[in-house]
Parts: sequence; structure tokens; C-alpha cells
Amino acid sequence: MSSEPSVRGQLLVISAPSGAGKTTLARRFVSFTPGARFSISATTRPPRGAERDGVDYHFLSPDGFAARVAAGDFAEWAEVHGRRYGTLRSTVEEALRDGTVAVFDIDVQGGAQILDRWPADAVSVLVVPPSPAELERRLRGRSTESDAAIRMRLAAARTEVARAASRYAYLVVNDRVDEALARLVAISRSARVGGAGADGDPAAPIARACRMDRADLSAWIP
Ligand code: 5GP
Repeated sequence: MSSEPSVRGQLLVISAPSGAGKTTLARRFVSFTPGARFSISATTRPPRGAERDGVDYHFLSPDGFAARVAAGDFAEWAEVHGRRYGTLRSTVEEALRDGTVAVFDIDVQGGAQILDRWPADAVSVLVVPPSPAELERRLRGRSTESDAAIRMRLAAARTEVARAASRYAYLVVNDRVDEALARLVAISRSARVGGAGADGDPAAPIARACRMDRADLSAWIP
């Protein structure tokens, strides 16, 4: 008798410009979806606020991170804002083996590496705020950053969106978090039951409407 699960795991890659509300959405998705797990990344950046080692991130020294790169322990890694971030290969392999949905809150460079290595298992979703103007409003509202720093974040957001537009399969506009969550749930579900075109699956039309279409990103990509 085989102990293989009947459903192979899913690698749900969620990327977004900072300020899109991605982390809240990803965490809500995990608490809402039975068997879903949040992938805990490794990083060389120091913990912020109440962050805990092994819960929010595996916090590593630069040398510790480099040693794990050399050992081939990472499924992907990238440098973001001058710090290194990576997904452990064991996290991906466990999700696939156990038949769970693993949620990756990672940047587009890392997401592209997961798509290259596990094309049949990865489902990629770009989350964007309703518009660049709304993102600017959110960034100005929440931070004490200088005007120049906010402009840099906005430019970085456009770059991140442009990169994802040519690689990612789905687009979720985070206008209201409950609606965005419903779309994310539909995308994950329909990909598990055989693709966004699967007949008779109520999630399928919702997921199909979220298929990446550059025309929906015209405000972001000139
Ligand atoms: P923060 O330092 O704010 O937690 O994360 C900064 C950025 O790093 C976010 O865009 C986040 O998605 C990205 N990130 C977090 N973990 C990983 C990872 O394992 N791999 C990659 N490529 N990016 C990550």
C-alpha cells in the first residue's frame, strides 16, 4: 500500500509591493484554509518588534546564511533591500510530500525561482493595492519616511509589479481584504482541483477572472 497522499501539495507564492497588505492577506488565508501552512523564511535582517526566531523568520547571521547557500539548503534566495532572504528547500519538499498548501510571502525574484523549479506545483499570485495613488496614500499615512524615501518605495513597487506581470499567473487587487481573501481562496482551490477551467467548480469562474492580464495593470506599468 502506498503512503503517498492523494493530493500533492501546492506552493502558493504571493508577492506584492510593500504597502499592498500582502502579509495580512497571506496570514488570513492560512488561518482560513485547513492544512495550509505559512512558509517561514530565513533572513539576515535583524528581528523587528515582537518578531520571534523560528516563528516569523529563521534569523541567521550573514555567515550562517552563506553556509546554508553553499550547502544547497535553499529552494530560492534573493537580496531584498540589502538583506538576504531565502526559502529552505526542506519547507518546499515537506509541503509537497504532506499534501499541504504552503504559502510563500516572498518577493518576485524568489517567486520566479520557485516557478522555475516546481512549475507543476507552484501557483503564483501578485497582490496590488487598487492603484498607485492609493499605495502612495497608504505609505504616507503609515510612515514617518521622507518624501524621497516614499518616492523610492513607489518606484520599487512599479518595478515589482512589472516583473510579476510577465511571470505570475494571477492578479488580486486588494481593495477590500475580505474580497481579496475570497479570490485567493478560489485561486488556490481551483488550481488544486485541476486548473481554473475545471467544470462545475464554483471557484473556477472567480479564479479565471483573476488570471493575470497586463491590461489590468495599466496604471502601474506605463
Ligand atoms: P520584511 O523584511 O519586510 O519582512 O520583508 C521584505 C521583503 O522580503 C518582502 O517583500 C518579502 O516578501 C520578502 N521575502 C521574505 N521572505 C523571503 C524569502 O524567503 N525569499 C524571498 N525571495 N523574498 C522574501
